[in-house]
Amino acid sequence: MASPHATAIADGMVVSIHYTLTDDDGTVIDSSSGGEPLEYLHGHGNVVPGLERGLKGHNEGESLKVDVAPSEGYGEHDPRGLTRVPRDSFPDDMDLQPGMQFSGEDDQGEEQAIWIAAVEGDQIVIDRNHPLAGQTLHFEVTIQRVRNATKEELSHGHVHGAHGHHH
Ligand code: ZN
Repeated sequence: MASPHATAIADGMVVSIHYTLTDDDGTVIDSSSGGEPLEYLHGHGNVVPGLERGLKGHNEGESLKVDVAPSEGYGEHDPRGLTRVPRDSFPDDMDLQPGMQFSGEDDQGEEQAIWIAAVEGDQIVIDRNHPLAGQTLHFEVTIQRVRNATKEELSHGHVHGAHGHHH
């Protein structure tokens, strides 16, 4: 039973969580443990949709597990995001390894993160999908704090934390 002072997570609330994210094998992908909690504005797409859905209605102080399917996480892996490019389109002195990330440009000239999926001789397979695309995300979350957002935060659609205003 919720305490009378508990604040439930709803759209327009600023939520602070500690979290550990693991993949299907239990390998830790990311964690706030040992650092600052993650603070986000609920209902504004600041975190993946499945995590928002899983946390909604829960209260400060609760710990819970949230499993997020790829469709509500970083999307399905789209094979069209894979491209083969010749090794010599990269600088000679670049030590190309699978998993390396660099930024490139998409068709519209927007900056985009690109990953090296494989190095196959003089061919480099690059991947424009998010590195977590196609993965089910397993979050273990402790809700540290829930508060109302300020008007400014709501109009910007993100949290203005104690450390100032970052854009
Ligand atoms: Zn702002």
